[in-house]
Amino acid sequence: MGKYILGLLLLSSAITLNAQKTIIHCGRLIDVKAGKVLTSMTIVVEGKKISDIQPGYTPPSSADKLIDLKSMTVMPGLMDMHVHLESETRRGAAADRFVLNPPDIAFSSLKYARITLMTGFTTVRDLGGSGVNIALRNAIARGDVVGPRVYTAGKSIATTGGHADPTNGYRRDLMGDPGPREGVVNGKEDAYHAVRQRYKDGSDLIKITATGGVLSQAKDGANPQFTEDEVRAIVTAAKDYGFIVAAHAHGTEGIKRAIRGGVTSIEHGTMMDDEAISLMKQYGTWYVPTITAGKSTGDSAKIPGYYTEIVTPKALSIGPRIQATFAKAYKAGVKIAFGTDAGVFAHGKNWMEFVYMKEAGMPVLEAIRAATLSAAELLGVTDQLGSIEKGKLADIIAVDGNPVDDVNVMGKVNFVMKEGVVYKQ
Ligand SMILES: [Zn+2]
Repeated sequence: MGKYILGLLLLSSAITLNAQKTIIHCGRLIDVKAGKVLTSMTIVVEGKKISDIQPGYTPPSSADKLIDLKSMTVMPGLMDMHVHLESETRRGAAADRFVLNPPDIAFSSLKYARITLMTGFTTVRDLGGSGVNIALRNAIARGDVVGPRVYTAGKSIATTGGHADPTNGYRRDLMGDPGPREGVVNGKEDAYHAVRQRYKDGSDLIKITATGGVLSQAKDGANPQFTEDEVRAIVTAAKDYGFIVAAHAHGTEGIKRAIRGGVTSIEHGTMMDDEAISLMKQYGTWYVPTITAGKSTGDSAKIPGYYTEIVTPKALSIGPRIQATFAKAYKAGVKIAFGTDAGVFAHGKNWMEFVYMKEAGMPVLEAIRAATLSAAELLGVTDQLGSIEKGKLADIIAVDGNPVDDVNVMGKVNFVMKEGVVYKQ
């Protein structure tokens, strides 16, 4: 027995000694914590983690693998806090829910997940789908398919007829009366039931639709759709399961109810007024702007027949307003985490958000922090993700050029590593 244990000890120390290190030479390295660009740096990766960061270009030993990124700008893997990996916009997509089966959704989602990772997003938050997003998360985590690390809400929680009621716009005899199991609640009891069902389904967090939305087959894109008590019940139930709560909200009253009800983040926040902004600061609520979604739905609505008749006017009036709200919230000092609503526009274009954030007055390095450190803070995973630091997971990307000089290089990601594995070089 003693001999056996000694043998095991010797074997494991031999493995440690021979573990291959990856040495990454970085021409420029973004320190998101300090908001600085460092030059001529070396990152050492062992297994899934970053084991050291050294100034200068450390020469690799003969056993090490060298990755030369001396001509690039290296930064932490990007994190998009609002995507929908199950779908992608196209003309007439409103009919998809009548013709697509879950396996159809699953196969398309593989394509969307892959392009998201290949464009530098190593972590995403999926804020609502049919539940295929849960299986997708698991398949990526197992390494069966290529994609970003996914934190998923599973199915969003709405109220009857609200944004994300799955039978909105159906012929009346087909509508049925979906309940908490399907993510539709009315009253506090239902709210608890729906949160517990998400736990049972395997969701990582909760998404609610606090107001009407643009792309649902319903008239109002901004009215409040939950009482403050219902929001509070969801938040209270969510806490029992360690869930954070993300609230989709366009209209002012719904935004305020969601903040007072205790949600973690406001998504879109389109009609946030001064009072809502001060409430956000008072409650420490995160703002996830999704400017790209606003602009692209506004643009798509100008194409005749792209959306249904009930959706078009909402897309034209709500979408284009988000960027100005973002500018105001940023100036006021609201906590901002990067999020795009990808799926509402083409996956892989998530980087456009950086362009729009900069246009609205946020310096590029702050926008990159919103997409790394701040996003990790929102998710509560700063011990693992959000910056290039010793001990954190090796999620590392590089762009061709310097984003401080030209924000468009965020669309030129030429190197992607997730948990120490290189996916693009
Ligand atoms: Zn969304």
